[in-house]
Amino acid sequence: MKYNVAVISGDGIGPEIVEEAKKVLSKVEQVFGHTFAYEPVLMGGASIDVHGVPLTDEAIAVCQSKDAVLMGSIGGNTATSPWYQLPPEKRPEAGLLKLRKALNLFANLRPAYLYEELKEACPLKDEIIGEGFDMVIMRELTGGLYFGERKTIEEHGVRKAYDSLTYDEKEIRRIAKRGFEIAMKRRKKVTSVDKANVLDSSRLWRTIVEEVAEDYPEVSYEHMLVDNCAMQLVKNPGQFDVILTENMFGDILSDEASMVTGSIGMLSSASLNETKFGLYEPSGGSAPDIAGQNIANPIATILSAAMMLRYSFDLDQEADAVENAVKQVLKDGYRTIDIMSEDCTQVKTSQMGDLIAERIHK
Ligand code: NAD
Repeated sequence: MKYNVAVISGDGIGPEIVEEAKKVLSKVEQVFGHTFAYEPVLMGGASIDVHGVPLTDEAIAVCQSKDAVLMGSIGGNTATSPWYQLPPEKRPEAGLLKLRKALNLFANLRPAYLYEELKEACPLKDEIIGEGFDMVIMRELTGGLYFGERKTIEEHGVRKAYDSLTYDEKEIRRIAKRGFEIAMKRRKKVTSVDKANVLDSSRLWRTIVEEVAEDYPEVSYEHMLVDNCAMQLVKNPGQFDVILTENMFGDILSDEASMVTGSIGMLSSASLNETKFGLYEPSGGSAPDIAGQNIANPIATILSAAMMLRYSFDLDQEADAVENAVKQVLKDGYRTIDIMSEDCTQVKTSQMGDLIAERIHK
């Protein structure tokens, strides 16, 4: 089958890591007989340099017309790059915020997976790591506290600030459905995280999640308070499959979960809307400190491409092949500099892409 993909290489290490993801996808094409048709799209600093703005309406239209967007990263050195002399709405990051809004990407998915070979990078004790862990955090991205009404006022000479946390049932239902659908492709367990002992918005969250759960009888689900979840992530991370939560709790928990896995160069992510469409990108930034040196770790971007195969194209076998190739490369002792350890072979960005592509098979 043919799949149409908009490709935003972006800035810094973006073009280097995206190139390797395309190399791996090209091997998937050969082995499994698919076609991936790419159209490059400018965003971030690369777009400012050409068009004077971080994202044009034409670029948005191209992304909207495709099956998915594969992205590297955008932005430059915030202290030295001329892009940061521009007003905030013209800076590189404004392009990404605009694109997320235009594509209605309300669900953010971040896996936290511990590779046996990278256990050393995990700050948890061996007895806690146990058999390892493999979870995803499904975070609501466009509602809640970060988008509610806020104000700072002064009352009788005392400054006072407030932010409001609002969710309506439609917003909760669509993210909950996405969470249960993802669980159906995994170990079929959802942990819905809230603060229902205190917050009304959490009590509604719980009610709606229970309603949605009725449509997914194969998926087991539980509710967990956010403070307990923060604790459980470092006490027994192996218990989680899909963590489903609102915007701010997800912001904090996804960083906690990713840190227990180790390197930023390994962390993939997806932002999804109500359809199969998604934007896939590594969790890290454009790493201007190492750009252009062919030393960045391309694995997060390659794993993001695997998520694109699984969640936007329903190509589970192909996604498995990419993930298994990554595992095999690590098992064979190859590492980029950021994850290098004793007795391993250090490789460049482009070599890592070659080694993973070589290991793709049915
Ligand atoms: P960063 O993630 O780019 O870099 C932090 C550290 O991690 C650096 O030392 C970098 O070398 C390292 N690193 C990141 N990705 C790596 C990889 N694949 N392989 C090896 N090492 C890697 O964060 P930062 O320095 O705070 O931000 C740099 C720029 O990236 C800024 O302009 C920021 O706004 C932007 N940014 C973009 C995105 C995005 O595109 N979604 C996300 C975060 C930051």
